[in-house]
Amino acid sequence: MNILVTGGLGYIGSHTCVKLIEAGYNPIIIDNLYNSKKSVLQRIKQITSFTPQFYYGDICDKPFVDSIFKKHDFTAVIHFAGLKAVGESVIKPLEYYEKNVYGSICLAQVMRDNNVKNLIFSSSATVYGEKNPVPYVESYPTGNITNPYGWSKFMVEQSYIDLSNAEKEWSISLLRYFNPVGAHPSGLMGEDPQGIPNNLMPYISQVAIGKREKLSVYGNDYPTKDGTGVRDYIRVEDLAIGHVAALKQINKSGIHIYNLGSGIGNSVLEVIAAYEKACGHKLAYQIVERRAGDIAAFWADASRAKQELDWQTQYTLDEMAKDSWNWQMKNPNGYPNE
Ligand code: NAD
Ligand code: UDP
Repeated sequence: MNILVTGGLGYIGSHTCVKLIEAGYNPIIIDNLYNSKKSVLQRIKQITSFTPQFYYGDICDKPFVDSIFKKHDFTAVIHFAGLKAVGESVIKPLEYYEKNVYGSICLAQVMRDNNVKNLIFSSSATVYGEKNPVPYVESYPTGNITNPYGWSKFMVEQSYIDLSNAEKEWSISLLRYFNPVGAHPSGLMGEDPQGIPNNLMPYISQVAIGKREKLSVYGNDYPTKDGTGVRDYIRVEDLAIGHVAALKQINKSGIHIYNLGSGIGNSVLEVIAAYEKACGHKLAYQIVERRAGDIAAFWADASRAKQELDWQTQYTLDEMAKDSWNWQMKNPNGYPNE
């Protein structure tokens, strides 16, 4: 079964391609290499003994995307391609709305033109905004978001919900990820941030390997267990398996919304402690001001995915830290250029 994977060379997309291959699917990738490298294909091959077909190009380029639909019969599309840096989205909102919103609409139009109507979309817990109590449940209202990245996910969700209301034969899954971390246990694939990492675990990894002097902990005066921010960290492998599980829905028309998280909240200090255990030494950090736009604490109610997809996370924070450190040690400069 051919599955089109947009953004399939990125962090989550590449891990998902491995899980798709292991489950017997044939992932075919579109990626514009904006935030990834072609050498990821080699790593997928090293893990699975199979190299997925790859097309270099942009999802906003409809004739290009259409030409790929003319070459292959797709059962479904898993749509990861997009821009994901929250801070950057505040500075470049138009680019975020173009690539994330316009790109997602172009993709759905080409799918409709080619009569492929099974779609799985990478959404985010950010759509729950600032006002909902934890744990987040799929039925909560969305909105009250603090940045253009989050609004772009909200807008794509809304366009896809409207599409499925208008055209009943679509089956669309909106997967709301919590905080993906970790790496493939082989150390061959992991997160490869360009420049200074924005997210916690990649930053800690670079402190651990000596690339950065110390971590800034953004605030220790939140109303949480130790005053630092609390998030629901989900191992990227578990997340990838969640996509394979979501493919089960493709014959059920309508909108299917799932939180993909562990249901457990961990603080920044707990993440540091887990990483120290993994790398075997203390990590330097300092407490600084809260980061603008941060929420004190959120985690998932992950029961719907468990009931309907028979999916739940398997891995602990210690295991996520161990895999992240393994990847960091083996690939101190990320993926090779070619
Ligand atoms: P990533 O940047 O590693 O992967 C995205 C991939 O898409 C990259 O390979 C990039 O080159 C490609 N791409 C970007 N714009 C494109 C375009 N217009 N056309 C073709 N390819 C394009 O990001 P990721 O962490 O793997 O995230 C995947 C998806 O999951 C994104 O939509 C992201 O918003 C969403 N998400 C990520 C997180 C997270 O913390 N990583 C959390 C929630 C949701
Ligand atoms: N965080 C931090 N220092 C950093 C990066 C993040 O203290 O250098 C904190 C952040 O305030 C939040 C948690 O770590 O409480 C997770 O942040 P991340 O950016 O990874 O995810 P998000 O905020 O998008 O959930």
